[in-house]
Amino acid sequence: MLVQLGPDTAHALNVTVNPKEVIPGDVFILKVETDGTRPAEAEFLGSKIPLYPVKGNQLLAMVPVDIDTAPAKYTINITAGEQRQTAAITVNSHEFRTIKLTLPEGKVTLSPEDEARAVREAELLNKIWPESTTPAWNGRFISPTNSEISTAFGVKRIMNEKKTSVHKGTDFRGATGTPVKAINAGTVILTEDLFFGGNTLIVDHGMGLYSIYMHLSEFSVSKGDKILKSQIIGLIGSTGRASGPHLHMSVRLNGLSINAESLFKLEL
Ligand SMILES: [Zn+2]
Repeated sequence: MLVQLGPDTAHALNVTVNPKEVIPGDVFILKVETDGTRPAEAEFLGSKIPLYPVKGNQLLAMVPVDIDTAPAKYTINITAGEQRQTAAITVNSHEFRTIKLTLPEGKVTLSPEDEARAVREAELLNKIWPESTTPAWNGRFISPTNSEISTAFGVKRIMNEKKTSVHKGTDFRGATGTPVKAINAGTVILTEDLFFGGNTLIVDHGMGLYSIYMHLSEFSVSKGDKILKSQIIGLIGSTGRASGPHLHMSVRLNGLSINAESLFKLEL
């Protein structure tokens, strides 16, 4: 007797992960191809991963790997109706560097006024993230400057031998006035002078992805502006808590800080 193959087995979910190996703090791409009859869902490390339609029945997610993720091989679960599929991602261990920094004492041990301002601004930064859905970016992400990186993501910094912080961004060298380019298309959602970040600019790229640019000497665009990839959005400076002129750029994806260098490598 012939075994009848149902539509579920006839059209299995086609799932790809790229790259297949990352380090903590990286981002990777998850692509899911369905038969188009049922919505697909993905889950990784206990969190639901939003999938966005790209073309035909193809769905895409950019998945952040928290910097505190323990090295291991992890399973990603994908479901679409009755269909189930798994994919694997390997998180390799990585030794992040430790560096010592000397900053003006007033920027490390804060006065009560500065402390209050920093707390206020942290609260502002906690709630400015809109529910960004439609992707505004297109194609690969690019570096915001042509200059080299001075301090990579994940570096542990000891400031004035007492305060320790993990660098959740990437520092690019550059003299004051050097143009800063948008790493992809999006909408400017913040241009403010903040205590730590100095002149800070945030771009919403959609799909829960934001790029943040700090210490700017000038803004070249305004809040609400729709900008193109590689458009000049500001100039390098040393405003806020900076030891000298440079660009501090960070990327936020689904609420986590990720390594911009891993974002630039994605084949999108
Ligand atoms: Zn930095």
